[in-house]
Amino acid sequence: MATNHDLATSPADEHVDVAVVGAGLAGLTAAATAARQGDRVAVLSHGPPGGRAHTTERDGYRFNQGPHALYTGGAGMAVLRELGIEPTGGPPSTGEGRLLVDGELRQLPASAASLASSRWLSLRSRGQLATVLGRLGKWDLEELGHRSGADWLDDLGLRPDADAVLRTLARVTTYADDMASISADVVVGQLRQPNVRYLDGGWQQLVDALSGGLQPRTARATGLSRDGQGWLVTTDAGGVGAVRASAVVLAAGSPAACRALLPTDPGWGELGPASTAACLDLGLRRAPEPPIIFGADEPLYLSTHCPPADLAPAGGAVVQVMRYGARSAELDRPALHELARRAGITDDDVATQRFLAGMVTCSAVATPARGGLAGRPGMAATGAEGVYLAGDWVGPVGHLADASLASGRAAGAAAADLASRAQALAPILHSSSFELLSQSAASLNRPGAVQASGMATSLMKDQA
Ligand SMILES: Cc1cc2nc3c(=O)[nH]c(=O)nc-3n(C[C@H](O)[C@H](O)[C@H](O)COP(=O)(O)OP(=O)(O)OC[C@H]3O[C@@H](n4cnc5c(N)ncnc54)[C@H](O)[C@@H]3O)c2cc1C
Repeated sequence: MATNHDLATSPADEHVDVAVVGAGLAGLTAAATAARQGDRVAVLSHGPPGGRAHTTERDGYRFNQGPHALYTGGAGMAVLRELGIEPTGGPPSTGEGRLLVDGELRQLPASAASLASSRWLSLRSRGQLATVLGRLGKWDLEELGHRSGADWLDDLGLRPDADAVLRTLARVTTYADDMASISADVVVGQLRQPNVRYLDGGWQQLVDALSGGLQPRTARATGLSRDGQGWLVTTDAGGVGAVRASAVVLAAGSPAACRALLPTDPGWGELGPASTAACLDLGLRRAPEPPIIFGADEPLYLSTHCPPADLAPAGGAVVQVMRYGARSAELDRPALHELARRAGITDDDVATQRFLAGMVTCSAVATPARGGLAGRPGMAATGAEGVYLAGDWVGPVGHLADASLASGRAAGAAAADLASRAQALAPILHSSSFELLSQSAASLNRPGAVQASGMATSLMKDQA
């Protein structure tokens, strides 16, 4: 089994088993998965390790890149646990949260208890919401994949105040403002898992745990080419040469970044639009009251991430403010500061702050035109055998980081499997084994895969 130390010292221009492009959650998960299977792994990333999950420290305050909450019942958590990672942190104080509706701060009906006591909603509206939230588990997600979130919400026929609450919860759980673009399976799937955890030390906790001792090489991958010995990943970084690998995972953060590296057009067709946000990260000298405000009138969010998570010096707080659907910085920055004022935050409270314009929360949302999550490109949909995809737009499982972690795991396992078989056969085969092995792996996705795979193996034996 390769250790993380082995991984860190794999020199450039040498053959590793698996090359990973991108050191965000998807790439790091793929690398960790492959390393666990005993393969030598090299990770290339031109940005800081963690990508969008990177945490920055400022004056003792730790800022994620905008608000980051880990869905504790999601596919990502299952992947982390499989890798032996149990993230620490705490849940938000939603019970004390407020909804900004018609210009007023009202009790946030985020749970059965707070819904019952949200007397600003009529009894009928509370009943409607209780019915919808109670029935979430009954909807058929496969069928909902062909409908938009907007259609699903419209068809519920809720009273206006109940509708405003549900749309707010849908936005907060999906990070998507445009319900007409996103498929309803994502909306209902996210509403089904309301429990989140804010992480001690920020999402860097996940990045560090996934990385282990691995030091991603700072280099931008520029292309992929294949010869008889496997894949060659070229880079544009001086001093960092090309990496030769039996299998490659592309986890470059967006469809466009991955497509640019592939030798041929993978034929994905039209993917969903990116969802975006503008963020204001605040390091405060005290925790605000109320700790949470979700906007119903405007797609706005404010939540105190510390406490509960450990992100600030003693007595301090970290508050994340966000607008779903980024516009210009000139419009978004004042809107976020205004929301902070609604939470009673004054200039004197602010020890440090950071504004982030135009952040990409999901690089391509699942759409009804593609049948929802099931219609996203699969991790093997590269048109290049031995090259796999991972990211928040890949595979049928999960949304946001859940998708990155789930596809990272799947791609890392597939790449490691291919690389391990190449490694096992290398001593007895000449250089053309790679193509045969790749064809064998590709055939596993087709009917008659077992026979095809067996045929490829016997062909390899013939060549030995
Ligand atoms: C404001 C905001 C809030 C969010 N909140 C949540 C949340 O609460 N819960 C949740 O689950 N998710 C959340 N997300 C989404 C989550 O951050 C992402 O889904 C996840 O981090 C994406 O990981 P990734 O590895 O797929 O992509 P990225 O993090 O984008 O990583 C891609 C990496 O590839 C590198 N790269 C790109 N091209 C190349 C190349 N050619 N060569 C080498 N390296 C390359 C980049 O530098 C980057 O490091 C949020 C995102 C944002 C922006």
